[in-house]
Amino acid sequence: MKRTLTNDERLARARAIVALSDASTQATLTIDLSAIAANWKKLSDVTGQAECGAVVKADAYGTGIEFVVPVLERAGCRTFFVAHVSEGKRVRDRLRDKSARIFVLNGVLPKRETVELMLIHRLIPVIGSLPEWRFWRDIPEAAGFPVALHVDTGMNRLGLDARDVPVLAQDDSFRKALSLLIGHFVSSEAADDPLNARQIAAFEAARAAFPQTPASLANSSGIFLPARPHYALARAGYGLYGGNPTPDQPNPMRPVVTLEAPIIQLRDVEAGATVGYNGRWTARRPTRLAAIGLGYADGLMRSANGIDEKPDGGFAILAGARCPFVGRVSMDLTVIDVTDAPPGAVVPGALMQILGPDIGVDDLAARAGTIGYEVLTNLGRRYNRVYIGD
Ligand SMILES: *Cc1c(COP(=O)(O)O)cnc(C)c1O
Repeated sequence: MKRTLTNDERLARARAIVALSDASTQATLTIDLSAIAANWKKLSDVTGQAECGAVVKADAYGTGIEFVVPVLERAGCRTFFVAHVSEGKRVRDRLRDKSARIFVLNGVLPKRETVELMLIHRLIPVIGSLPEWRFWRDIPEAAGFPVALHVDTGMNRLGLDARDVPVLAQDDSFRKALSLLIGHFVSSEAADDPLNARQIAAFEAARAAFPQTPASLANSSGIFLPARPHYALARAGYGLYGGNPTPDQPNPMRPVVTLEAPIIQLRDVEAGATVGYNGRWTARRPTRLAAIGLGYADGLMRSANGIDEKPDGGFAILAGARCPFVGRVSMDLTVIDVTDAPPGAVVPGALMQILGPDIGVDDLAARAGTIGYEVLTNLGRRYNRVYIGD
């Protein structure tokens, strides 16, 4: 027979688990849930009368759907967007308010099971083509269930061809089911891109066919466009998680993720020594090197490396000093030049900040030749994950 553990035994076991992650050489990812709530409130303030929905696809941009959804709901968010049905189910399972809406941006595959799952979990499909609508309409159980329509305004990715709008506008069953009309910006983070105005005009033209239907066009950056294209509902993703929706200006959002990795080993090398695989970085002076326990298997892009022909790679912060990555980022390790850090701080076990209040996701992304969205959604699964601020 299995014996139940005493409280003392439970406590000892919990301590052992905590000690294991604390004492390990792995990195710690801290996710500040109160910052996500504050970012949602901030974006809601900017959208004013319009509702601010939350995009929580890709595991809430790597921060954890199960943790983020209840926090957003408590902050007041009632509309959620995901990419896939499986993500929608995870959101539904975490919501208390049964009337909260979940939209599935990628729409429906022509498979009966997809529709059944959407109906069971009350997920609203975002329809993007005539055949998609016809498939949905011909499933009897879907009758009376709402749908959204995505009209393509220039992305040429998903969404109804604008020339097909009149067909749906004359379809009575479609008009009855339609609960939201959406469009999507191509480059809203570039406020002066003339494409923004052209897309707003194309969206207006589609809206004229469904004048009674609530509309949604703005992503995080779209919320800040001078034209304020908020309509009934905005769809905020990146900004919620601390990314800068206004890259030309200071970041109005609060940082959400902090990533810290411990120094495992230190060594001193002479000028001329190379570091890491393929010897792509060469010391130009006597250099103190720190190896930290984090690499590309943890989502740190290899392209963030600092090599002789591209020395301005990523950096880490130790005791206020910026310390550059040197050599190739490897699977579990990255080497940092800590020569200029305060010597007292440079000890094994000291935590170096890779992301956090002083290094935003946009900063690391720029040095890795990518965007902060990719930095966030690449955040690894092997970190010691800590949630604070709930
Ligand atoms: C991902 C996505 C969003 C959210 O965009 P952010 O730039 O992260 O705010 C909004 N709408 C659609 C259709 C999306 O795919």
